[in-house]
Amino acid sequence: MPTRRSTDGSAGDQLFETALEQFDAAADLVNLPDRTRSILRTPKNEIIVNFPVEMDDGEIRIFRGFRVQHNDILGPYKGGLRFADYVDLGEVKALAMWMTWKTSLAGVPFGGAKGGIAFNPREHSRSETERIVRRFTHALGSNIGPEHDIPAPDVGSTAQDMVWMMDTYVNAGGNSDRQNTRRVVTGKTIETGGSVGRDKATGQGAAFVLAHHYEQINRDLRGQTCAIQGFGNVGEHTARALSRMGVTMTHVADHTGAVTDPNGIDPESLWRHTSQAGGVAGFDEGGAEALDVEEFFAADVDILVPAAIENQITAKRAPNVRASVVLEGANGPTSVEGENILIDRGIEILPDVLANAGGVIVSYFEWLQNKMSAKWRLNHVDDELRTYLWEAADNIEAEKKRLACTRREAAYAVALNRIGCVFDQRGVWP
Ligand code: NAD
Repeated sequence: MPTRRSTDGSAGDQLFETALEQFDAAADLVNLPDRTRSILRTPKNEIIVNFPVEMDDGEIRIFRGFRVQHNDILGPYKGGLRFADYVDLGEVKALAMWMTWKTSLAGVPFGGAKGGIAFNPREHSRSETERIVRRFTHALGSNIGPEHDIPAPDVGSTAQDMVWMMDTYVNAGGNSDRQNTRRVVTGKTIETGGSVGRDKATGQGAAFVLAHHYEQINRDLRGQTCAIQGFGNVGEHTARALSRMGVTMTHVADHTGAVTDPNGIDPESLWRHTSQAGGVAGFDEGGAEALDVEEFFAADVDILVPAAIENQITAKRAPNVRASVVLEGANGPTSVEGENILIDRGIEILPDVLANAGGVIVSYFEWLQNKMSAKWRLNHVDDELRTYLWEAADNIEAEKKRLACTRREAAYAVALNRIGCVFDQRGVWP
C-alpha cells in the first residue's frame, strides 16, 4: 500500500489529502491491486503555465494557469476550468481526481482532468478577460485537444470563455481541420457549437438524482423545502429544476450573504436580482430577509444543496444541519469529518460524483454532436441525461447494499471497478 504524501498544508493540498483519503477507503473496499492504486493516487500530468497579458492601461501582468490531467485510461481527459484568485495546484489535483471517478461512474468515455487560472474575473474588464483566456489557451498549446483533453466551464468561467478558448485553438491549428476541432472545449454557447441543455445540465442532473432518491424511498418531492448555497450556474439551475418539480426554495446563500423567505424565493426573480447586484445580498422581494451564513446551514428545510465551493459542511456545521438530505451540487462541499457526523445523524448524502455529474454527461453529448455534426433537441438531451444518471444511481445503490458501505464509497467502488478492470486488461506497458 503506497504511503501518504506529506504536504505544506495549503487549503488546496488539504483538499487533495481529502481526495486521497476518500480514494484509499474505496480502494480498500474493492481490493484494488496496489499497482493500480499507485497509478491512480498520482495525476499523470501536472501542467503549470505562467503567461504575460497586457492590461487595459498598457501594463503587462503575469498570470499563472494550471491543467492537471489525472487519468485517461477510459478516454480523453475531461474537466472544467476554474477562474478564481485562490486556485492552486493542490486544489486542481483534487478536482482532477474527482473527475476521473465521475466520468467512470457516469459511464461516459472520458478520463479526468481539471484546470484553472489564478485570477478573479470580477476584477477584470471583458477585454482583459478575453486576452487572459486566449493567452492561457495559447500557452497550453497541444496539451489540450479534441481527442486528448477537453476543458469546460467551472467556478468563475462561462460559455463565452469557452468560445474564446475554442476560437483560439482552432485558429492556431490546421485550416482544413478547423470545424472538426471545435469540440476541444464543451460548454460553448449554442450558436458556436454548444448543446441545448448544457447550461442547465448540472442543476437539472442534480434534480433528477434527487427525484430518483425520493422515488426509491417512496416519498413525494412535491411540497418539500430546500436551502441552496451558491446561485451561479449549478445553484441557479438546481433551483429552477427543483421549482419545476414542486420544491420550494426558502433559503439561499452565496459569497455576498444569505437570504430567506419562508413562503419561497422565486428563482427567476432572484436571478434578475443577482444579474444586477452580483449576488444574493440585498434581495428583498416578497419580504425576503437577510440571515447569517451559520443560520443558513442550520435552516429548517428538507433538502440542503451546497452548490458553491468545497469544504462547506464541516465538523463545526454538520451537527447543526436540519435537512434530511444533502444534495452535493458542488465538488467536495462536505469534509470527511462533516460527512461522518451527517451519517451518524441519519442524514442522507447524495454525493458530488453522482449529483453534479450532469454537467460532464451533457458535455459528452455536446462533444458527440460536434463530432457527428448533429443537433439534438432538448427533450432528447434531458431524456438521455436522466437515463445516464438513474443508471449510475442504481449501480451505486446495488453496490452500497452489497458492500454495506456509504453511498460515496459505493459510488467510488462502481467507478474504481470499471477503471480497475480496464487496467487489468490493458496492463502497464512498457
Ligand atoms: P459559478 O461560478 O457559476 O457559481 C459559484 C457560486 O458560488 C456563486 O453563486 C458564488 O457566489 C458562490 N460562492 C463563491 N464563493 C463562495 C463562498 N466563499 N461562500 C459562499 N458562496 C460562494 O460556479 P458553478 O459552475 O455554479 O460551480 C459551483 C460548484 O459546482 C463548484 O464546486 C463546481 O466545481 C461544481 N460543478 C460545476 C459544474 C458546472 O457545470 N458548472 C459541473 C460540476 C460541478
